[in-house]
Amino acid sequence: MSSSTITPWVVGNWKMNPMQADAFQLIEEFKQLLQQQEIPSERCHIGVAPTLIALTNIQAQLKDANRTIFTVAQDLSKVSGTGAYTGEVSAELLRDSQIAFVLIGHSERRELFGDDAETVKAKLHNALNADLKVIYCVGESLEQREQGVAEQVVLQQICDIASVVKTEQWQNIVIAYEPIWAIGTGKTASPADAQAMHVKIREGLKQITTWGANIAILYGGSVKAENAVELAACPDINGALVGGASLNAQSFYQIASAFAQK
Ligand code: PEP
Repeated sequence: MSSSTITPWVVGNWKMNPMQADAFQLIEEFKQLLQQQEIPSERCHIGVAPTLIALTNIQAQLKDANRTIFTVAQDLSKVSGTGAYTGEVSAELLRDSQIAFVLIGHSERRELFGDDAETVKAKLHNALNADLKVIYCVGESLEQREQGVAEQVVLQQICDIASVVKTEQWQNIVIAYEPIWAIGTGKTASPADAQAMHVKIREGLKQITTWGANIAILYGGSVKAENAVELAACPDINGALVGGASLNAQSFYQIASAFAQK
């Protein structure tokens, strides 16, 4: 499979947004846009990652969409199963609520909530062992980019997880390359820079796993309707993880549409 034959993914990361009524409206508008002009599931996988409290409501609301839209958890516990862990939600509890996807390693979790490499590995191990599919986020800081170590940092983040992913589990992983300096800042990596990093990630994945050629590698960092076509045109960018622009139904639709035409 060449990178261009991987079905693209467009996933909206809602972060700690929006209020319930706005979330309801956003999904209704998005479903209507899909109704007016379909984006076939085989052209682009689409997912949304609402807050934990909204996950099952949004999942129910998406049931009558004219295509599959996955509901994605933004995080999960480093502890598995059930038990006395106040405030935590495990992989098994997500699975029990039919949530089949989870984001792991988002830079906001790494930077603001102390998710170090060990924590990320534990979360990934739990998610994969509960048969969840994982969108694993990697990315360098501005300082690391300026020091010329961006590639090294990103490849290390990928190597970090190699010890916990069993051979057959690689097919349940999607990578999201999100340079930290481009998240929520309005600064997008240039398509050429993003493409170059995606090539390196692909090379790294191929060395780690025989599934390496098939893994979707998404770009994230200020993706919007205005830059989606250009990013989608890059041969090794297999989709987008979208923050801010996913809170607007029209923008999110246009981004998905751009990748569906890839
Ligand atoms: C993100 O949080 O994953 C993200 C890419 O955010 P934004 O699109 O707002 O930069």
